[in-house]
Amino acid sequence: MEVRDKKITILGAARSGVAAARLLKAKGAKVFVSDIMEYALKKDIAKELESEGIPFEFGGHSGKVGESEFIVLSPGIPVKSEFVRSLIAKGIPVYSEIEIASWFCQAPMIAVTGSNGKTTTTTLIGEMLKKCYPDAIVAGNIGFPFSAYVQESHKETWAVIEVSSFQLETIDRFHPKQAVVLNFAPNHLDRYDSYEDYLKAKWRIKKNLNSRDHLIYNAADEKLSEWARNIAAVKLGFDIDGDEKEQAYYKNESIYVFGQKLIDSKDMILRGRHNYMNAMAAALAASNAGISIDQIRETLTTFKGVEHRLEMVREINGVKFVNDSKATTVESLSFALQSFNTPVILIAGGKDKGSDFTRLNDLIKKHVKELVLIGQAAEKMTEIWHKLKPVHHPETLEQAVETAFKLAAPNDVVLLSPACASFDMFSDFEDRGRQFKAIVNGLK
Ligand code: ADP
Repeated sequence: MEVRDKKITILGAARSGVAAARLLKAKGAKVFVSDIMEYALKKDIAKELESEGIPFEFGGHSGKVGESEFIVLSPGIPVKSEFVRSLIAKGIPVYSEIEIASWFCQAPMIAVTGSNGKTTTTTLIGEMLKKCYPDAIVAGNIGFPFSAYVQESHKETWAVIEVSSFQLETIDRFHPKQAVVLNFAPNHLDRYDSYEDYLKAKWRIKKNLNSRDHLIYNAADEKLSEWARNIAAVKLGFDIDGDEKEQAYYKNESIYVFGQKLIDSKDMILRGRHNYMNAMAAALAASNAGISIDQIRETLTTFKGVEHRLEMVREINGVKFVNDSKATTVESLSFALQSFNTPVILIAGGKDKGSDFTRLNDLIKKHVKELVLIGQAAEKMTEIWHKLKPVHHPETLEQAVETAFKLAAPNDVVLLSPACASFDMFSDFEDRGRQFKAIVNGLK
């Protein structure tokens, strides 16, 4: 795609938007950045854009946006918002940041999507690829915008990219060599009219796959298996329930790929069925990229996981403290609880995303010893769970950790796995996880 001299507006000046603006400017486009946030809140970004010589406007979108040849839409802005719809109605194409970055990608791409496990799987594939391709690119939703790295790509390496449903809504030519779809679960229902709409957005990942490409998918997921049937790509399924007809499966506590035993789960640092699924998906993708089974096994024996995802923080007097701050959904907490076979003192709660917490009742009964509930959702959770287990209501995260530590006996796990967003008490889930770790590391 030739962008030289084209007038392009980037809507939304966050990390990926700024990276897209830089990339397009470097490719000779006439870029303009527009954001409704007030200048005062965007000062740092404004400085960055000024120093790059990129024109911008904050505090609203002017008529200049409507003069663009196309728009790059930040994932935070819904395609269905009135303003974006008005641009589309004028015939102005709207693309996501991964779409435009992919135009300049020389390396074959592996795209990873799904409701849960994207960052873990993307990082894991990246680690595996680096055994043979030290300069493999690992980017996307993971916190490193694809646009910021794509210019380093070349034909002899790979790019692995985490893609969200928001980014997939506005792809056009985005064409990964391998598409990995981990799972479907209700999420972001505040942004979509229905669950089906959300799934359809994720499923757009298959848009440009042809018979020379690979689709790696969770064969235990009924919907995914059904949809996968009509796809032109070579299909590789993975199955956590041990179905031996799939190219990867988990059976007798071991992972098998392409008919060979890959690893015993006890030899992996990553724990939990969800992580065995992520490992199977990653192994299939890496193997397709030419990484040997021995190299894949070696990665799985040393990969510690990603920060804030069932991250082991510290052990004091036999009590293990685990930071799972990224668990912002009911599914994530459910997988977290299933990862432990010792009693859990659970610290949960935060900003409710309209979740149905009753879905966790059986797991709470089975795995949890005491409930320490924080944030806005504490009341709703208490109403549901107070008959199942003892409930405690500290005011702050610090008090929550102290309470949990007092309640814990040797061999127990103190788990922060909120099943909620963090914005009621923290700036984001990373902030929540870092504060948790600092408090735990300060315990005497
Ligand atoms: P994402 O990038 O999709 O948000 P992460 O890899 O960051 O996913 O993991 C977020 C949380 O989701 C983890 O803390 C874990 O509890 C849960 N999780 C990870 N992988 C899976 C999976 N395959 N299925 C369900 N839940 C998962």
